[in-house]
Amino acid sequence: MSLSAKAKLSFMKDLGFPAMLSLQKAMKGKRGPRKANPDFGPPLKCAARLKEIMMRHYYLARFAPGAKPVAWVTSGAPVELLRALDFYTIYPENHGALCGAQKMGPELCQVAEDEGYSADLCSYARVDLGHMLSGKTPAGRLPKPDLLFCSNNICQTVVYWYKVMAHRYGVPLVMFDTPFNYGEIKDDDIDYMKGQIKDMIPVLEKAAGRSFDMERFMAVAELSKSTSELWGLCLETMKAKPAPMTIFDAFVHLAPVVSLRGLPVAREYYEILYAELLERVRAGIGAITNERKRLMWDNIAIWYKVRDFSELFAARGMNFVAATYTNAWAETIQHLDMSRPFESLAKTYSLVILNNNLEHRLNLMAKMVEDYAVDGLVVHSARSCKPYSLGQYDLKRILSERLGIPAVVIEADITDYRYFSEEQALTRLEAFFEALEAA
Ligand code: SF4
Repeated sequence: MSLSAKAKLSFMKDLGFPAMLSLQKAMKGKRGPRKANPDFGPPLKCAARLKEIMMRHYYLARFAPGAKPVAWVTSGAPVELLRALDFYTIYPENHGALCGAQKMGPELCQVAEDEGYSADLCSYARVDLGHMLSGKTPAGRLPKPDLLFCSNNICQTVVYWYKVMAHRYGVPLVMFDTPFNYGEIKDDDIDYMKGQIKDMIPVLEKAAGRSFDMERFMAVAELSKSTSELWGLCLETMKAKPAPMTIFDAFVHLAPVVSLRGLPVAREYYEILYAELLERVRAGIGAITNERKRLMWDNIAIWYKVRDFSELFAARGMNFVAATYTNAWAETIQHLDMSRPFESLAKTYSLVILNNNLEHRLNLMAKMVEDYAVDGLVVHSARSCKPYSLGQYDLKRILSERLGIPAVVIEADITDYRYFSEEQALTRLEAFFEALEAA
């Protein structure tokens, strides 16, 4: 690491970014506020803070090389190990969601496809490969990684995707292998994962150029745990009627727990969000003005449709109050136990929804329907994400029959809107709306 790069990063943090932010705020002030939609309650005040945090993260990222070791990480990897070694982390999946929301998915996917990558690959992977090949990104510029860190607890795609990147960038790849949980987690599997954590530390130390400090790791893990717990509490406020936020809000407010988990800024943010949500519950302020029906979402967001869908449902008095996707970053954190740090870290990351059997998912969803007083279920069958979409038609049928609630499957993709038919989705949703009204 060089002193000049560190000084530059520090300068940008203290002066460069605040100056850029002030300029942006001045420009926005000239444009005036966006017209309020009467179907929605007042917007969350802390949304501005969220935007600032994520902008800062991506802005400073371009000055990280040379000042800090840079790692690209999958959303389900035990990032606490990297934080203890001071890595600056980039989450290609979060970047993929950003590209999706900015409607850049097809363009970047096409770049990857032109290079020979299959259109059947997950579009987060294609967007990321498209960015790697073209340099295009709505985030300005992403820093080149010094290390790639993935876990197959979410899918096998990440293994091959990260191998390609490791080859292209000429950097080491560390993979955390999590055996699939067909039933209860096995002791042998926990030992196997704990062994991997111990084995990977020297490799991470080499890439970071510093020694692993157990005390620092424990502090980071504590921070990570309390951040995920706070995120869980934020989601739980949606049990209130009316719910103080929608799942469409939560898709966006999820970014810090995914990308900045283990950093003080993430926890600080959820303290603010949680306080605001509690205040809204106390004051009876709903995310939508006329919450008549409460819904649950299954699978990742359709990033290019978040705004359109939020308006479509809000106009009918329908609010999404729960989602398996947003719940995933709070669901297993109770296993993290500082008296058994590596063992419990392994358990926390191994038991995530995508590394668990369908019965677990079914029971989890049934409990969420009950806890959040859900009236209907919308299942996004995401063309990109095979592990999340597998078995969804059965899940929908079983839940619908068992709990007596209407359910619908929408076929789409997370970022690549070339695979989304508005007409087909609306036809299915109209039938769903009728069934909900009749229920
Ligand atoms: S296949 Fe699914 S879990 Fe894997 S990276 Fe893509 S969206 Fe994420």
